[in-house]
Amino acid sequence: MIYFDNSATTFVSEKVRAKLMELTEDSVSANPGALHKLGNKAIDLYEGIRKETAELLGAKPGEIFFTSCATESANTAIKGYMSRNKRAGNAVISTRTEHKATLECLEYLSKLGYEIRYLKVDKSGKPTMESLEEELTKGGVALACFTLVNNETGSILPIDDITKSIKKISPSTVIYLDCVQALGKMPVNLSTIGADMASFSGHKIHSVKGNGVLFIKNGVKIDPFILGGGQQEGMRSGTQSPLLAGAFLEALKEVSAGIPEAYDKTTEINSYLRKELVARGAQILSPDDALPYVLNVSFKGFESETMLHCLEIYDIYVSTVSACSAKAKKVSYVLLEMGIDRKTAANAVRLSFSRHNTMDEAKEFISRVDEIYEQFLIK
Ligand code: PLP
Repeated sequence: MIYFDNSATTFVSEKVRAKLMELTEDSVSANPGALHKLGNKAIDLYEGIRKETAELLGAKPGEIFFTSCATESANTAIKGYMSRNKRAGNAVISTRTEHKATLECLEYLSKLGYEIRYLKVDKSGKPTMESLEEELTKGGVALACFTLVNNETGSILPIDDITKSIKKISPSTVIYLDCVQALGKMPVNLSTIGADMASFSGHKIHSVKGNGVLFIKNGVKIDPFILGGGQQEGMRSGTQSPLLAGAFLEALKEVSAGIPEAYDKTTEINSYLRKELVARGAQILSPDDALPYVLNVSFKGFESETMLHCLEIYDIYVSTVSACSAKAKKVSYVLLEMGIDRKTAANAVRLSFSRHNTMDEAKEFISRVDEIYEQFLIK
């Protein structure tokens, strides 16, 4: 099997599996809110996990909240900030190339009467600085929502330029950053990145599904999304799960080590595939300076879904548009927003890698593409 669909989800690592077994033992399974000594043991374990997670992300323990997924983190951050800070302004800036987890929250806010100002993006999907400055200068911008690495193209946000511009023109604007596709693939240090809130997802870094993280910088106040027993300082009620938080931490530890080596290895795979695919008439839709972990490519003569199923015959797994929109059979809104024509976008396939992919897999992929062209292309 060749799995080139790591932006959709990753496979669970051996270390995470072992950690899950350890964390399901009776001795650590009491309710972390219980008053007896087993409860104390569980809460100590949980807080230890939180502290280590915070350290690895460059945050303080009190700034880290465990959630069920990055979508929950995005909902909590975006809706919660606007709900709590009504006097901060009525506008939110963002782009139309965000993940649906952000876009749907913005749509919700717009129905409540907030003004959503979408910035223009360039050919690589990055917001233009002119558009950013123009919208900030109009005033009233409470929140800015961006994604560090685009899940469909690998396009990297010029975060330093963006934060600089926001701090200069509209210093009170709070920045929410989706770091889901960046974590473990490039350095992400929350103490220096300039974000006030950020989201992460466990299943994109070889943990199980069902665990995410929300970072809220000290001093930033939001209304909680999930109300209940007041766990996690009232920010995210619901019995804490040392099991899921521990799985996230174990995965985070693994992906935080060896980022440069994994980056180089993935760059080699990406460059090889780009060269070979272009030689076969394919069009590369990911920008040249994209993160090498994502390669969006439009195949001549094959619609996205046809290519996906042809590759599947050979036990090779890729995506069409992002997994959440794939079933709706839509052409990627991200590619259209980048100015790519509908026909090219309709043939787009996303290859997404993890540090475990190899050059041998890349070579086999190319030889299978050749076979598919020979066998299935209607001339
Ligand atoms: N943001 C980005 C950029 C993503 O790629 C994804 C998942 O596809 C999400 C958010 C949502 O993550 P989760 O599946 O943890 O809700």
